[in-house]
Parts: sequence; structure tokens; C-alpha cells
Amino acid sequence: MPLKRILKMGMVGGGPGAFIGEVHRKAARLDGGIEIVGGAFDINPRKSRQMAKELCLDRKRCYGNYAEMIEKELKLPVGERMDFVTVCTPNNWHFPIARDLLEAGFHVMCEKPMTLTTKEARDLAKIVKKTRCVFGLMHNYTGYPMVKLARDMVKNDELGKIRKIVVQYPQGWLATALEKTGQQQASWRTDPKQSGASGCGGDIGTHAENLAEYISGLKMTHLCAELTSFVKGRQLDDDVNCLVKYSNGARGVLHASQVSVGEENNLAIWIYGEKGGLEWHQEHPNSLSVTPMGQPTQVFKRGNDYVANYSPAAARASRLPAGHPEAFLEAFANNYLNFTDTILAKMTRTKADPLFKDFPDVKDGLRGMLFLETLVASAKSKQKWTKFKK
Ligand code: NAD
Repeated sequence: MPLKRILKMGMVGGGPGAFIGEVHRKAARLDGGIEIVGGAFDINPRKSRQMAKELCLDRKRCYGNYAEMIEKELKLPVGERMDFVTVCTPNNWHFPIARDLLEAGFHVMCEKPMTLTTKEARDLAKIVKKTRCVFGLMHNYTGYPMVKLARDMVKNDELGKIRKIVVQYPQGWLATALEKTGQQQASWRTDPKQSGASGCGGDIGTHAENLAEYISGLKMTHLCAELTSFVKGRQLDDDVNCLVKYSNGARGVLHASQVSVGEENNLAIWIYGEKGGLEWHQEHPNSLSVTPMGQPTQVFKRGNDYVANYSPAAARASRLPAGHPEAFLEAFANNYLNFTDTILAKMTRTKADPLFKDFPDVKDGLRGMLFLETLVASAKSKQKWTKFKK
């Protein structure tokens, strides 16, 4: 275990009325190992100051923009300055902000999708390698203990060779032209300049892709996709339907939607192998159903010794006894815990426990961008089946 010290966190994005910034702040503070010291919280400096005031932060560490934040933080002694910065702006800002932070020597936790284009994702991967800073990507769904248990069961061959993966992420909140009402989150998500080449695909399809690759340990190799924009006047897709081929020959279906009326965040996955199958539902995250061939379905529940004994990663990602539910915030906190323990190991030049490295990183970010590139290319092509680029 590396020497513990409370790490200082900065933030870009997450201003007043923002969605995910506050989730990051709550989750980062959950285990007491992170202190938020400042940031450039909003595109509007006045609102950024308002946020800092609400958070009772030192006014001197509330900055007008991220460039000023980097310049002024670098003038502070190490130990006082931010150890890492979380980027939770709309997608178009991720690359320039993460690049400048890494090049200035800050570790970075970034929201997904990692960048706007695959070119930016490849460049960012090179910058992470060159600077040797720690880079985390907030694919929070792989932070759930039962997802880690599922991953370990597949790795230990409990299901045998994987044949089929069905993964879905339906939501219904964009079933009307919400963006036309000026709603903040809908406005930028439906604008290709801020969101990227795919709306629903980038926003939630990448979570489904990341979850399928994380649990199965397989890579998607080909997609046959259709992107639809149901809401009149919307510039980007709000519905994604896709067939998938995986690296071991497995086949799959991935669908994501933001116009599925009645759905909230119904991310779910089914994985079928030669010896058994499993399923996990994000809206019921504390259990995992596993069916060995010819046997009744077993329901594994978070917090029990049989889970901890089987999967050290699931045990590490669990805080409460069985029956006291843990969910979304804890999954974010798990990624923060592994990310910050990796930073601490680096700072103290100790070898990081392999369990600490269990958080999504720049390689996952590049996979997400390759997924989006292939998705859009397939949707546009007549031939349909489209291979992932290397
Ligand atoms: P939001 O619109 O609610 O908040 C964005 C915030 O960023 C606003 O406060 C805005 O003023 C600020 N901002 C914009 N440009 C800025 C800049 N250059 N400098 C400083 N601040 C700037 O958006 P959101 O819903 O919170 O989404 C933010 C990011 O988080 C997106 O990339 C999104 O894909 C991602 N996200 C991830 C999850 C998840 O489950 N992991 C969930 C929601 C959103």
C-alpha cells in the first residue's frame, strides 16, 4: 500500500446547474482521500466564481479559465498545488484541456467520450505515454463490484468460450426536442460541434461498448450499424442499433436509445458462453445472475463473503455489508480510489498493486473513439459490416 496522503483535486467544468461535475465531487470525497481545492468550473468566469463560493473554496483558486488555472497552479509548491484535475466539460473541450494539463504535469481524470475524434484520441494516448502522468476515464459502470465479479468469472472460464453478447442502454429523456427549450444538457449533446459525430452513440453507446469489452475481455472487431434521428430537426442520432463481431468470433447486439419512452438508465448486459450465461442490470446493480448450463440460475449478491473470496476486485469495490445497497456514486468512487492509489504509488515510487490499475484509462478512451468512428462509418455505408481500424 503506498503512503497515504490526501490528494488535491482541481476541476474543469461542473459549474452551477451542471450534471456530472457534482457527481464527481461527491464521489471523489466519499473515501476521504481527496480534497477539492479549486478549479475553472464554468465557461462563464462569473458562474465559476459562484460555484467556488458555493463549495466554500479559496477564492484565489477559482480561475477564469483552465489556462489561467494551469499557469497559476504551477507557481504553487508541489504538495500545495493540485495533484490531479477532473475534466467534466462537454466533449469538445476534453482533448485541449486534458492535453494541456498532462503537458503541464498534472494527472487527469476525464469524462467520456474521451475526445471528439479518433485523431485526438491517438494524440492523447501518445501524450499520456510521453508525460507518464496517470490518466483515468470515467466509464463509471465498470466501477461496480458485480461488474468486476462478472469480469473475473468470465476470465476464470466459468462461462466457457463466449459466443454471444447482448448489451443495451436505453433512455427516454430526449424523446422530445428538449434542446429547443434551451435545456443545458440536451443543447450541447445534440450539437455535433460539441458532442461529436454521434449523439446517442457518444453519450451512452460508448458506455455499452466499454462494459461489453470490460466484462468479456474481448474486443469488438466489426460493426453493422444503423443510426437514426427520430426527433424532427435534431442534428445527431438519438437511437443506435448495431450488430457486433468480437475478436474470438463471438457475435453480439448493441442498442442504445434516448427516445425509448419510459426508460431511465436501463443499461444491461447478457453474456452467453459454451458452459453458461450471466446477466447484470445497472438499475439493480447489487446482484449478478449466473446460469451454469443445465443448472438453476444463481443470484450473487454484493457484500457477501462468497463474492469477496472469489473476486478481490469486487471486494475492494464494496463498502457496506450485504443488503445495504451501493450504486452510482460508489461506482464513481471506486474509479477514483484506484486512480488515486495509482497516483500515490507513482509519487512514492512503489509498485502499484495490480488491483489499483483496475480503472478505465486512455486505451479504453481510444477504444471508445474507434467504436464511434466505426459506428458512424457503418451507418453511412451501403456494405454495412465495417471493420475497426487498428
Ligand atoms: P453539463 O452541461 O451539465 O455541464 C458542463 C459544464 O462544463 C458546465 O458547467 C459548463 O459551463 C462547463 N464548461 C463548458 N466548457 C467549459 C470550459 N471550456 N471550461 C470550463 N468549464 C466549461 O454537462 P454534463 O451532463 O455534466 O456532461 C459533462 C461531461 O460529462 C460530458 O462529456 C458527458 O459526456 C459526461 N457525462 C458522463 C456521465 C457518466 O455517467 N460518466 C454522465 C453524464 C455526463
